[in-house]
Amino acid sequence: MVIIMKPQTPKSEIDRMEERLINLSFDVHRSQGENYTILGLIGDTTKIDVSQLEANEYVERIIRVQHPFKRVSRSFQPNDTVIDIAGHKVGRGNLLIIAGPCAVESQEQVLTIAKDIKKHGAQLLRGGAYKPRTSPYSFQGLEEEGLKILLEAKKQYGLPVVTECVSPDTVELVASYADVIQIGARNMQNFALLKEVGKTDKTVLLKRGMSATIEEFLMAAEYIMAEGNQNVILCERGIRTYETYTRNTLDISAIPAIKQLSHLPIICDPSHAAGKWEMVEPLAKAAIAAGADGLIIEVHHQPELALSDGAQSLKPDKFGHLVKVCKEIAALNLSLV
Ligand code: PEP
Ligand code: MN
Repeated sequence: MVIIMKPQTPKSEIDRMEERLINLSFDVHRSQGENYTILGLIGDTTKIDVSQLEANEYVERIIRVQHPFKRVSRSFQPNDTVIDIAGHKVGRGNLLIIAGPCAVESQEQVLTIAKDIKKHGAQLLRGGAYKPRTSPYSFQGLEEEGLKILLEAKKQYGLPVVTECVSPDTVELVASYADVIQIGARNMQNFALLKEVGKTDKTVLLKRGMSATIEEFLMAAEYIMAEGNQNVILCERGIRTYETYTRNTLDISAIPAIKQLSHLPIICDPSHAAGKWEMVEPLAKAAIAAGADGLIIEVHHQPELALSDGAQSLKPDKFGHLVKVCKEIAALNLSLV
């Protein structure tokens, strides 16, 4: 970190600042120019409160050299993290395919879809038992009954389960059924929830908030990892822009950006990005081509009857086609490395 002091700052104030930084355990290198004094800090600056330093009337500007995140950072861990979910790996060239309905509606619905997605190459089953809906009048999910249905599907088809947790007080319950706990876009900055899932040993699928910058997204992952849980999969699911034709705008650039900044696996959810089933496969292909480590796709055997997100849900045979072409693209990526 570099602190630029204003011209005409009294020497006593610069000394005071330097002393404060030394007390915070930094090595400080002072460069005295004709007008400006620059203080260069050596040490771990992730825990420093920049706004406190900026509040000093003699500080002109602060430039961060280090990212504010640490555990998620590629400089902290240079090699790609590989996460193993009941034998299914994600990261470092291992592609993870997650599929299933938006919401768990009934046992019959989940078992039908689980059978179909397994046939078409899904490795994990998704399904929401707690649904964070925009309207309080929309279907809110079957809650624990829904978790039991997912477990039954797991038993019958051997598909580990990904399901969303929406509140800190249900983390323990959701963790007792799920193989992967999903944190949805609306909860990406629910810090109490992030801390709670950070205390578990379950893999967390963290979705990008719809208005979150890449740095905020990575800081949310840092919350989970700072509590001890290192198993975090990131998920780009589209962000809100001025465009209304699609439900969200898939930020493809987030995939290579996150690959540069972090060692964590990054997967893509083209279903919530598009909001339209016809666009799911093209976006999935683009994400894999850009280096995504996997996909999470909404699939429903009767999208026209779905209780949530039917318009963006693929029928099973369309999902099968998507998996086939995306695996071909992933293989091509690997062969080009
Ligand atoms: C979902 O996965 O069904 C969901 C609600 O996604 P998001 O949090 O990305 O909107
Ligand atoms: Mn959904």
